[in-house]
This record gives sequence, structure tokens and C-alpha cells, in this order.
Amino acid sequence: MTLVYQSTRDEKNRVTASQAILQGLATDGGLFTPITYPQVDLDFAKLKDASYQEVAKLVLSAFLDDFSEAELDYCINHAYDSKFDDAAIAPLVKLDGQYNLELFHGATIAFKDMALSILPHLMTTAAKKHGLENKIVILTATSGDTGKAAMAGFADVPGTEIIVFYPKDGVSKVQELQMTTQTGANTHVVAIDGNFDDAQTNVKRMFNDTDLRARLLEHKLQFSSANSMNIGRLVPQIVYYVYAYAQLVKAGEIIAGDKVNFTVPTGNFGNILAAYYAKQIGLPVGKLICASNENNVLTDFFKTHIYDKKRSFKVTSSPSMDILVSSNLERLIFHLSGNSAEKTAALMAALNEHGQYELTDFDAEILELFAADYATEQETAAEIKRVYQASDYIEDPHTAVASAVYQKYLAETGDQRKTVIASTASPYKFPVVAVEAVTGQTGLSDFEALDQLHELSGVALPPAVDGLETAPVRHKTTVAADQMQTAVEDYLGL
Ligand SMILES: *Cc1c(COP(=O)(O)O)cnc(C)c1O
Repeated sequence: MTLVYQSTRDEKNRVTASQAILQGLATDGGLFTPITYPQVDLDFAKLKDASYQEVAKLVLSAFLDDFSEAELDYCINHAYDSKFDDAAIAPLVKLDGQYNLELFHGATIAFKDMALSILPHLMTTAAKKHGLENKIVILTATSGDTGKAAMAGFADVPGTEIIVFYPKDGVSKVQELQMTTQTGANTHVVAIDGNFDDAQTNVKRMFNDTDLRARLLEHKLQFSSANSMNIGRLVPQIVYYVYAYAQLVKAGEIIAGDKVNFTVPTGNFGNILAAYYAKQIGLPVGKLICASNENNVLTDFFKTHIYDKKRSFKVTSSPSMDILVSSNLERLIFHLSGNSAEKTAALMAALNEHGQYELTDFDAEILELFAADYATEQETAAEIKRVYQASDYIEDPHTAVASAVYQKYLAETGDQRKTVIASTASPYKFPVVAVEAVTGQTGLSDFEALDQLHELSGVALPPAVDGLETAPVRHKTTVAADQMQTAVEDYLGL
């Protein structure tokens, strides 16, 4: 039997894994979501010695069950290779009182690489499987990291075109240069005058525009998504939670069966939702701790069950989490409401019309799994310094948000369970914040900070930032948020 992926907003809209990956988003505006979970044999006596690629095979073959074994081998072997600068792919580092799961050893030094190095292969494999003749146009809104990681994955992939929108004043200098210097004839990068939510809203609108879809088809084109709204992004993220657990068993830090907490710095709710799915296939999970920055809409949601996006948008030092509308929360809402498309669609309509919704009738057992809190800018900087002093290790600001929230959780609950912090970016991606937090210096340029960070941490400068200062800028377009569609039409010659 093949696993069913259903739209969160229409119970009749059901597809297989490969179809869900090709489509990206459901045309009814919902997200394709598993309605049952596959059986996976999580035997940690064996898994503790398995490679990352082997764990990936186990998880992917269970969730992406209409791909053949040969197809998955091809995708996995082309994704998790020497693009990663650590043979473990996602090494687990033991620090004072916590374990940091380093998800930033890929091409763009943020955790998006974990899924985006495999998504293009899954997508082109799925396209072949279904005899698709259209060119796939990847349309992506990015808060900084997805855009670059998606382009690194899709650049010059035959049969694809990729268009990335990012908020002009909402990303770090290093993030911006990583994107604007991107090579590849099929890559397009556009800055918008607006924030990430503006970019994401307009991308979603274009996906759901039937007229636009028809015109694309006339030109033998179709959209897909590289955002975590695509289930092909989420499934590869389940892998590293299983892998991290296996490493804890291997190191003798836990015994197979012991529950482990995961603290996840959260924006669009994709990464933490993958941890939830890991729990659903049998990973012994204690709490999933949802960590936010000052855009703390999710903290309020878990505490009050009211999701209220009507608040001011804050630009913080952890820009990849500067989000007020967390797309993937829709999938959790769907599960919380007993996989009811009707209830989910009603809540999403309320969010759209009134900017908020209240969850009244829900599965308390699922909600209990989550704890949530946020860290202020000051607390985040203080945490970078604390970890540096305690463990001689420099966290990036996103990881530090999670780490700070874990410290609060620990103080409040006294929960002594082993806890893994999802470490989502290298400090080299946010060098100014990292160096200022450790040394107290201010006014450094990004490139001065890179050198200092190297001296402080002793970690080699990754190729992702080495040479960035002098790389030619290839993408210089800026448009208003309401002109995004025009930009897309221009690029595609519609
Ligand atoms: C995208 C991102 C996040 C947020 O992850 P979500 O899956 O959107 O919740 C956190 N940290 C970094 C560095 C990111 O790039």
C-alpha cells in the first residue's frame, strides 16, 4: 500500500509522495500531509553504527514509498556527498549540559542544505517517473537561508528554473551576497521592498492563481516549491533526528529507549515538525521545545491556543526566524484537529480574514508534546557568550535562541532529560552578531568579523564565505512586493 498525502484543506485532494513533491503546494492552498505513518524498524543496536546515508535510506524509503530503491539510492548518494565538509554529515557535539546537532556542514552552511541538497534530485526523479514534459519553475520566498540553499541545489539542473525573492532589509550581508553572487543560467534572485511574510504571501498567491497556472501550462511550465511547504523538504529532515538519537546511543550517553528532548529554533515550523514526525515513527522523544526570537507568535500560540499574527514584525539578529505566519503550523493544526481538512480550512480562513484564530477542540496529547518560549535579542547575545565561556564554542544567533530557550525551560521545569539543540547555522553566516556577543566590540564589518571569528573559534573559514567579498554580484533587481508577479512573468517570458 502506498502512503497517502492529503491536502490539509480538502480531504478529496490525495496524492502519492512523488506527486506531492512535484506539486509542492496543493492547488486548494493546503499542504500535502501524511494521514497515516509508515512502519519503521528503529533498531538502535544496529542504527548506532549506521552512516547518515543509511539512516536516510531507512526513513526516506518509508515515507517516500512510491520511489524505487534504486531511485532513492541515486538521490541519497548525490545529495549527501563531498558537498558536506564533515563525513558524519550532521555531527553531534557534546557541550556543557547540552548536545548540539550541527546541521550546517553543507554547501551554504545552514540547515536548509540538509533537505535542499536532496530535493532537486527527488523532484527531477519524480518528474521522470510521471513522464512530465513541463519545465519546473521553483518559486521561493526566503528569509535568507532557503533561497541560497535552493539555488545551490537547483543551479543548472536541466528542466528547472528557480526564482528567489528575499526581503531587501531582512537578511545579513553574508546571506545577501551569497544569493546575489549565485551562478547558474537558470537562477534568478529578486530583492523586495517588504518583509518575509510579504514575500511568502505573494508566492502562495501565485501558486493558487488559476489564470497564471493556465498561462504557464501554455508555455510548458509549472510551478513547484522548495519551501518547507513541500513535503520533500520535511521528510529528509526527519533523518537527522533519528541519526542524532543513534549517536547518543553509540556514545553511551543514553540507552536505546530513553526519551530525549529536542530544542528547535523555529520560524516556518518545518524543522520542529520533522521532529514530530520522527516521534510518530517511534523515536523516543520527550519534549519538543519550540524556540522563537522576539517574533514570538508561536510561543503565544502554545501558551494560549490563540494564533494572532496582528503584531509588529521585528527584524532580529536571527533573520531566518523573523516570521509571523508559520506555514507548517498548518500541518500540526491538521493533526491537532484529528486530520480534519474542514476544521483546518476554517481556521486558515479565519487567519486570512481576521489575522487570528483560536484552537478550541484539539488533541491534547499532541499539544502536550510541545513546550515553547522565546529569547530576546539581549538574551540571545548573552547566550552566545555563556556557551563560549562554558564550552569554548561559538553558536550562531539562531542556535543561540534555541540554546537560551532551553536554559529557560531547564530552570522552569528541572527536566533533566538529555536535550539536543538543533544547530541550524554556522556562526560564519552571522559573523558580526557572533563576534559582538563574545567580545563586546561594535561597528565591525562582516568581513572584519569573519577574520575575528576565525581567530576566536579556530574553526576554518568555510568555502561558502571564503572569497565572497570579491565574488561578482550577478543579481541586482529590486521590486515592490506587489510587483513580484510581473518579475516572474518577465523571467519566464509569459
Ligand atoms: C530556516 C531556518 C530556521 C527556521 O526553521 P523552520 O523550519 O522554518 O522553522 C532556523 N534557523 C536557521 C538558520 C534557518 O535557516
